[in-house]
Amino acid sequence: MATNSSIEWTEATWNPVGGCTVISPGCTNCYAMRLASRLEKMGQTKYAGTTRISGGRAKWNGKIVLDRKALELPRTWKKGKVIFVNSMSDLFHEDVPFDFIREVFNTMASTPQHTYQVLTKRAERVESLSSKLPWSNNVWLGVSVENKEFTWRIDALRRTGAEIKFLSLEPLLGPLDNLNLKDIDWAIAGGESGPGARAMNPEWVRSIRDQCNAANVAFHFKQWGGVNKKKTGRVLDGRTWDETPLRKWLSEPHLTV
Ligand code: SF4
Repeated sequence: MATNSSIEWTEATWNPVGGCTVISPGCTNCYAMRLASRLEKMGQTKYAGTTRISGGRAKWNGKIVLDRKALELPRTWKKGKVIFVNSMSDLFHEDVPFDFIREVFNTMASTPQHTYQVLTKRAERVESLSSKLPWSNNVWLGVSVENKEFTWRIDALRRTGAEIKFLSLEPLLGPLDNLNLKDIDWAIAGGESGPGARAMNPEWVRSIRDQCNAANVAFHFKQWGGVNKKKTGRVLDGRTWDETPLRKWLSEPHLTV
């Protein structure tokens, strides 16, 4: 089933893949690792053996599980949803075979009632496979960038065939000044939350908001984060920021809603 999501910028999650490997500093406190460990204990076979306990914490062990049955699920949902693809993994992980990725894209292309948000940290792999994938215009592709060391992922994103391109600047771990936002439609920023959350400087967020405003890029501020994210909330300079690229997308005459 699609799982209704509490993530502020989507409606539901769809997970054809389980398991992952940490790849950059943004992964250190990956919520999916913790959740996969809990789901395994609850008997969900998709996450069996994907984590181990080390230093008292759940960590990915690199096992990837492909859930072929899940490929059919979106075809059974008649009402259109905004769906975060693989919230519990990375579709472009090196151990997810190209044929499986293509099947995920075929499912997305055959269900135009839905809007899919695919988010990856493996920007070099999605770029290298892009020309072989059936990009339908209901697929939004995003890359995660947590600090300035990883802005090259934005360049790779620009070179893909996705109609809508977005950035997840979360958990924001450092300043991201002078971003190149050419051809970028949407940016999400947010602080880390949960146990061991690393601090975010408000000036880093203001800089991203101002750069988005100047470049006419939709801006979404997800949260301040911290150990108690409900307490810190998501108000920035007196208001919430919930822009989406949807208005631009819906205004394109050739698109199917
Ligand atoms: S790529 Fe995503 S799912 Fe994989 S470890 Fe990093 S944060 Fe977690």
